[in-house]
Amino acid sequence: MQESKQAIKQEEAPINWAPTIIFSVTFLISITAVPVYGFMSGYDAVEWITFTLMLAFCGLSITAGYHRLWSHRAYDANPVVRAFFAFWGACALQNTILIWCSGHRKHHRHVDDVDNDPYSINRGLWFAHIGWMLRNYKSGEVDLNNTQDLQRDKIVMFQHNHYVPLVVASNVGVPLLLGYLNGDILGMLLLAGVLRLVISHHVTFFINSLCHAWGKQPYTNTNTAKDNFLLALVTYGEGYHNFHHYFQTDYRNGVRWWQFDPTKWLISALSWVGLARNLKRVPNFKIQEAMLQMQFEKARKQLSLSRLPTPNVEALRQTLEAEYQQFMDTLADWKELRGQWVQQKREAFEEKKQELQAKWQQATIRTRFKEMEYMLKMQRKRMQVFNLSFASVAAV
Ligand SMILES: [Zn+2]
Ligand SMILES: [Zn+2]
Repeated sequence: MQESKQAIKQEEAPINWAPTIIFSVTFLISITAVPVYGFMSGYDAVEWITFTLMLAFCGLSITAGYHRLWSHRAYDANPVVRAFFAFWGACALQNTILIWCSGHRKHHRHVDDVDNDPYSINRGLWFAHIGWMLRNYKSGEVDLNNTQDLQRDKIVMFQHNHYVPLVVASNVGVPLLLGYLNGDILGMLLLAGVLRLVISHHVTFFINSLCHAWGKQPYTNTNTAKDNFLLALVTYGEGYHNFHHYFQTDYRNGVRWWQFDPTKWLISALSWVGLARNLKRVPNFKIQEAMLQMQFEKARKQLSLSRLPTPNVEALRQTLEAEYQQFMDTLADWKELRGQWVQQKREAFEEKKQELQAKWQQATIRTRFKEMEYMLKMQRKRMQVFNLSFASVAAV
């Protein structure tokens, strides 16, 4: 690992000019022209409302769309919803759905690995936040092979093939048009165009940097991902990153009902009105299991560091091991029960299949009857003609 880190430090990666220029210029404008214009002319309510709405549209299109829908397939969405996410996702200017998801799937697969995780926290906070995009690092090489499922989605491909016009239309076209209608083009461009983009960028980048550095680990310590309520507040619920890295296919990141996760609420609301379905949830039991596993680990560590007299430690250790044995027994029971349940479900499915088959057979029988009726009808007609002609022959 040490050697690898060393090798990366010396990696002479060429500068990736497009993002470097975009990030620098927009950031500079947002700390100079945006406040100066604010002091001189002020921003009106329409500009602030547009800024807020566009910020939310971009943010949620990344979290509910790019991340939970496309990268993790945590649910299915109606084409109207997908088109919305594709448009406002382009407005968030974080590359196309395909490229973003490819990198993110790589991040999950090789999390923390300095050579293969595109935004590994082990290369520093700056690198994980933004540095990884400023140079063409080897770890960031795009290989779309891991997005073959997404390549069948026409909306994803449309966005991929028309990315630049969509970026310009959403980032410049929308503020330009609304600014024209509101009577102040520059104000709208600065607020809803530039400032919104900069905030939207860094808020998402926090998920890769701070969410891997600052917070708690209630579900797993096999990687650096952390749960952090404060970060969830600004990342539309993505701050519960420790849960997410352990249960990545769950459509929720803040899994408890009270945890602040607007992305989860949006997906639920979409499902209530029929615009999203197949919302994936990991069994509650599995969540409890992960948390208990972490608690056992913590208890063992504390015991090993304890300065209590040896007999006390030994008694505590025995209690802990008895608890653990009970935990393992419960796990085994659950696994068995789950197996039975799956088997039952499969059988029920088989029965349904047989029912369908019977119905289909009935349908073919019905069709066959109809065909026979038709054949008889035609035969009757032929016989009528035959009889008529026979009668005429006989009459001669
Ligand atoms: Zn993820
Ligand atoms: Zn992560």
